[in-house]
Amino acid sequence: RAKNNGRNRIQVYGDQMESPTADTLVLENDLYKALERNELRLHYQPQFDCATGQITGAEALLRWEHKGKLVSPAEFIPLAEESGLIVEMGAWVLREACAKAQAWRSRTGWPLRIAVNLSAVQLDQADITATVAQALHETGLPATALELEITESVVVRESLRAADILTELRALGVGIAIDDFGVGYSSFAYLRELPVDRFKLDRSFLSAVPQSEGDSRLAAALIAMAHRLEVGIVAEGVETEEQNAFLRDHGCDEAQGYHLGRPMKDDAFEALLVQHAQERSTFKADNLHAP
Ligand code: C2E
Ligand code: MG
Ligand code: MG
Ligand code: MG
Repeated sequence: RAKNNGRNRIQVYGDQMESPTADTLVLENDLYKALERNELRLHYQPQFDCATGQITGAEALLRWEHKGKLVSPAEFIPLAEESGLIVEMGAWVLREACAKAQAWRSRTGWPLRIAVNLSAVQLDQADITATVAQALHETGLPATALELEITESVVVRESLRAADILTELRALGVGIAIDDFGVGYSSFAYLRELPVDRFKLDRSFLSAVPQSEGDSRLAAALIAMAHRLEVGIVAEGVETEEQNAFLRDHGCDEAQGYHLGRPMKDDAFEALLVQHAQERSTFKADNLHAP
C-alpha cells in the first residue's frame, strides 16, 4: 500500500490493477484540496432500538461535494487510502462527528451515540488512540458515546495487531463495532476472542428476508450467535417493514436502513432528533434548551 507519498508522487499501478483513467487522476488530485476547500461533509444515518423504536445513535458517513456533485465514498475512500490522505480526512471526520454529536446531546438531552468508520490505514497509524482521545477531549463527548466501526475483513486480516489496537481504543471507553459482519473471512474462533461490543450484520444477509426461508434462518442464527457471545447486534440495510418486523421478532438489538431513515445532512438529523426527543422524553419541552 502506497501511503504518505506526498503531493507529487507518481502512482505505480500493479499488474492486475486497471490503469487509472484520466478521471481518476483528476479526482485524486482534487481530493488533496478537498479538505482545505471545505468540500467534505458528514451525513448522518439514524440507528434505532428494534424493540422500542427509539433512536439510539447515528452513523457518520463521509461525502465529498466536488464541483457541485456528491462523490460516493466507495469512489474516493480507496483513493484516500492509497494516498494516505485518509489519515487527515479521518481525523477530521472524528472531530466533526464528535462535535456534532456532543452539540446534539446537550441540545436535546438525548443519550445519542455516534458511530464513526475507521479505515485500515488509520488503524495502522501509531497514534490512532491519541487521535481518538484528542477528538473526545476537544469536543467534550463522553467516550462511551463514541463507537468506532471497523470492517471485519480488516480485523481478520491484521488479526494480531488489530486485537491490540482494539484493546487500546476500548481502554479509552469507546465502543467497537465490527462492520459488514459475516461477509469477510470470518474466523468465529477468532472473532470470539476480539474485544468488540457489537456486530453490524451486513445488509446482504437481509436482502432476501423474509421471503427466503434459508436466508431468514441464517439471519436469525447470526442474531442468536451474537447474543450467545454477549455481543450486541445491529442490522444494516433495513429497506422494508417486513425486515424491520423480522428483526424485532428475532430479538435483534438495533436496526439501520433506508426504511427507517436515510443518511441525511447534519441540520436534518438535528431536526429529527429534536422532534424525537420531544416525543419520547418525559421532560418538558421548555427544558430542551437548558445547558
Ligand atoms: P458502511 O460503513 O457499511 O456504511 C453503510 C452504507 O450503506 C452507507 O453507504 C449507507 O448509505 C448505505 N446504506 C444505509 N442504509 C441502506 C439501505 O437500507 N440500503 C442500502 N442499499 N444501503 C444502505 P455509503 O454512505 O455510500 O458508504 C459506503 C462505505 O464507505 C461505508 O460502508 C464505509 O465503509 C465507507 N465510509 C463512509 N464514510 C466513511 C468514513 O468517514 N471513513 C471511512 N474510513 N470509511 C467511510
Ligand atoms: Mg459503517
Ligand atoms: Mg456497514
Ligand atoms: Mg456494509
